[in-house]
Amino acid sequence: MAIQLRGKPVVDRMAQDMGARIEVLRQEGVVPTLALVRVGARPDDLSYERTAVKRAESLGIAVKPYVLDEFAPQAALQATLQSINYDKTVHGCLMFRPLPSFIDEKAMCNTLAPAKDVDGISLASLASVFTDASDGFPPCTAAACVEMLDHYDVPLVGKHVVVVGRSLVVGKPVSMMLLRRNASVTICHSRTENLPAICREADIVICATGRARAYGAEFFSPGQTVLDVGINFDTHGKLCGDVNFDEVEPIVGAITPVPGGIGTVTTSVTMAHTVAAAEALLR
Ligand code: NDP
Repeated sequence: MAIQLRGKPVVDRMAQDMGARIEVLRQEGVVPTLALVRVGARPDDLSYERTAVKRAESLGIAVKPYVLDEFAPQAALQATLQSINYDKTVHGCLMFRPLPSFIDEKAMCNTLAPAKDVDGISLASLASVFTDASDGFPPCTAAACVEMLDHYDVPLVGKHVVVVGRSLVVGKPVSMMLLRRNASVTICHSRTENLPAICREADIVICATGRARAYGAEFFSPGQTVLDVGINFDTHGKLCGDVNFDEVEPIVGAITPVPGGIGTVTTSVTMAHTVAAAEALLR
């Protein structure tokens, strides 16, 4: 039986840490504030927005929603992001993606000031992740993986990490963050050959591909730590990860569940980045 790396204890510890810092900010007259920018009303965005608002309120972080019509022109979104950049009362900004196809998403991501880009979507933020610079914020899900490993004291130095998935949201940034922590990282993708054998060799496997329960027993070996980043729905509409939990949990040493794993921590990382952005303003 594997140890289950649950998100809740990580979230609770982060809340405790943030609570003290938010109190200091409040004494300085600063209420950390997160802008949520949504175009249209996709169910996924609405669901994540509800979670973010609830988490923010429980911590004492203010939320400012900016909602644009699903057919709003790019210029309207650009103006919204620019107004957020100049608004001294807003410290962080989370823009729901994907944006409608008629909007140049890359251009909009780069409109956001890196200091407020708490989900690491601008090129400047990503450049920091890839160059080991300390300005800006890494993408929240990648940072949530590192939080999870640190919270459960999973050794990283010299360990072999296999990351399956190479997106700029998860796979690439988490690989760079773990490389920075002196792990040896192998990045795999849809064209990788002998993926099960590569995964079996790792100390830590991170699955971030969006393939429901695709990684079964043949990908894993005893003693491994497995982070399942996937958020998928199976054919019965049930939420599940990329890893076939029932098959893999009896084999490995530790594993994150879905739900209740990485996704839970991601929202807290967004809040922690917002608090850090507010603190940076005071320095
Ligand atoms: P993308 O679709 O952007 O990237 C998927 C990656 O998986 C690609 O690099 C792709 O390879 C790789 N891949 C696809 N099929 C295979 C395969 N058969 N074998 C090996 N690799 C494969 O997804 P994201 O990175 O945005 O998200 C990944 C998952 O994480 C999704 O389930 C998403 O819902 C979830 N997610 C969870 C979050 C959380 O907070 N927990 C937040 C963000 C995402 P290639 O590059 O070759 O196409």
